[in-house]
Amino acid sequence: MAGVVAIVGRANVGKSTIFNRMVGERISIVEDVAGVTRDRIYAKASWLTKEFSVIDTGGIELENASFTTQIKMQAEIAIEEADVIVFVVNGREGITKEDEYVARLLQKSRKPIILVVNKIDDNQFRDYIYEFYALGVGDPIPVSGSHGIGIGDLLDQIINQLDLQDEETNEDEISFSIIGRPNVGKSSLTNAILGEERVIVSNIEGTTRDAIDTPFVKDGQKYRVVDTAGMRKKGKVYENIEKYSILRALTSIEKSDVILVVIDGETGIREQDKHVAGYAHEAGKGVVIVYNKWDLVDKDEKTMQKKQKEIYEQFKYLDYARIVFTSAKTGQRVDQIFPLIQESYENSRKRVQTSVLNDVLVDAQLMNPTTTFNGGRLKIFYANQVAVCPPTFVLFSNDPQYLHFSYKRYLENRLREAFGFEGTPIHIICRKRD
Ligand code: GDP
Ligand code: GDP
Repeated sequence: MAGVVAIVGRANVGKSTIFNRMVGERISIVEDVAGVTRDRIYAKASWLTKEFSVIDTGGIELENASFTTQIKMQAEIAIEEADVIVFVVNGREGITKEDEYVARLLQKSRKPIILVVNKIDDNQFRDYIYEFYALGVGDPIPVSGSHGIGIGDLLDQIINQLDLQDEETNEDEISFSIIGRPNVGKSSLTNAILGEERVIVSNIEGTTRDAIDTPFVKDGQKYRVVDTAGMRKKGKVYENIEKYSILRALTSIEKSDVILVVIDGETGIREQDKHVAGYAHEAGKGVVIVYNKWDLVDKDEKTMQKKQKEIYEQFKYLDYARIVFTSAKTGQRVDQIFPLIQESYENSRKRVQTSVLNDVLVDAQLMNPTTTFNGGRLKIFYANQVAVCPPTFVLFSNDPQYLHFSYKRYLENRLREAFGFEGTPIHIICRKRD
């Protein structure tokens, strides 16, 4: 579940070079709203069978700030957002005052740190790494970002750390995050959720997670609200940097099973809400739409239905998400969020029987046969569910080119009707049978 890696270090040590090596060409358009991908601040990476996201904190800048303020902010962001911190130094220049400063900041957190000594382009420089033991943050590993040397070892170490954390995560706990543009009521909702009948489980000492998530139990189910720190510590200078708030949403999504997308009922749906909802959808996580500030909405008995229709029109791709109309202020329907989170979580992990899956697809094709598209007619031979979170189905066919998107949509609807995937996206992949 965990999987956020942050790169820190003073200017010009090679952070962005290493970032580029780690993520390769895997950048995604959807995440680019605030330029987080274009500026190569945030991207997905994968190594072996593991996927994770990488943040280059060097790309998050404060205007008119001193080097020290800048680097302090970057280290803080890394500590708050990351599961593993990659601390980069320049092997050719030795330890500088700024390196020491960063090391001290990082030592205060409980996050695992991987110390990377960059610009070791050649074996003749290898001995340069030993002096960096003095930073007191662990064993230095030599790399050359520009030559691509040592990057595999670095990725191995990252995966080891992430695997260790996966073992620590609680299997029967549902983690969720509350995202939305500023002032929609995220903090108020968090308080309303935690304020009622909550039983806070104290954070276990010695775990690698800093206490930014809040675990609690409700009706016998364990939950974890991700990134409550971001809600408590409002007013930090960098809270207002747009890139940072996007990053925060992306990393919270990454760490959650289910996403609550909050909309402000007072102002109605805005363009920015669509971006936020888009991230949640793209991540393939469970989604619940929370239409908040319901107490401020002028309403009669038809309003809820009308709003519902409007929401699905505005967020067409989220037609699987349930909507709940709440007031964080009065507590109205806040309780109804929990069964929806649970449903979304369970459905996102649902596995269907292969034989039943194939029966459903055969019936679907009988009821609505494929027509000619792209020069041929699609024939599906059989299908398999290959993954959960989200449920992913592979259709083996005569030629995937013949699959029209409207037919794919039809098949998705049939699967939804047959198996009930409320609250979760599902993926359908069409392949050619060999
Ligand atoms: P950042 O400011 O920490 O993100 O550093 P950059 O990635 O922009 O790199 C700063 C400079 O160091 C650039 O001129 C890079 O080409 C150079 N550089 C990065 N990695 C290496 C390396 O492994 N060896 C050498 N010799 N130069 C490197
Ligand atoms: P955030 O920025 O998304 O965390 O939003 P906040 O929780 O800080 O709320 C922004 C403002 O909206 C505050 O003044 C809240 O008191 C107010 N607010 C939040 N939820 C509700 C609600 O359900 N009803 C009303 N009337 N006000 C709300």
